[in-house]
Amino acid sequence: MEISKSWITITCPKCSYSMDAQLIQAKLEETIICHNCKVNIELKDSTASVHNSLRDIDNALNDLNKLFKNL
Ligand SMILES: [Zn+2]
Repeated sequence: MEISKSWITITCPKCSYSMDAQLIQAKLEETIICHNCKVNIELKDSTASVHNSLRDIDNALNDLNKLFKNL
């Protein structure tokens, strides 16, 4: 399962335009350009929740692995 290739929706802080980005881009703290108003959006600041959800997924996978080992 390639979690980092999942798509997330980014909302432009300036014009509220919604666009898609890949989770890996947020993880790598890439800057994307709004398709509507052309402002630079640093995925770093606005996507702290992305990091949190990625960590949650990691934890869930670790729990699953432990479960399988105990079987
Ligand atoms: Zn915009």
